Amino acid sequence: MTRVLGVFAAGEVADGRYRQTATAVGDGYRAAVNAQKWLEKQDEEAAGRRRAP
Ligand SMILES: Cc1cc2nc3c(=O)[nH]c(=O)nc-3n(C[C@H](O)[C@H](O)[C@H](O)COP(=O)(O)OP(=O)(O)OC[C@H]3O[C@@H](n4cnc5c(N)ncnc54)[C@H](O)[C@@H]3O)c2cc1C
Repeated sequence: MTRVLGVFAAGEVADGRYRQTATAVGDGYRAAVNAQKWLEKQDEEAAGRRRAP
């Protein structure tokens, strides 16, 4: 995650060292999985708040 909550970065914008397609693709996968997990957590927390008395 970046410093902005819920914003995930991948590729050259996040990697000043390797700057190759292969690393950008891996980064993209990692960012997508992390974004999905983050969204699921937000959803679970919102559902928990709705259930709370
Ligand atoms: C000449 C050259 C040869 C290369 N050869 C190789 C190679 O042989 N093998 C290899 O592995 N890597 C190579 N690379 C590196 C490879 O191209 C990059 O590492 C890879 O493209 C990085 O992907 P990225 O998604 O991070 O960035 P990019 O591919 O640059 O994608 C960023 C995208 O964001 C868009 N964008 C920018 N600003 C905004 C905005 N404000 N709003 C919306 N969209 C925006 C851009 O238009 C672009 O489409 C080469 C690079 C160059 C320049």
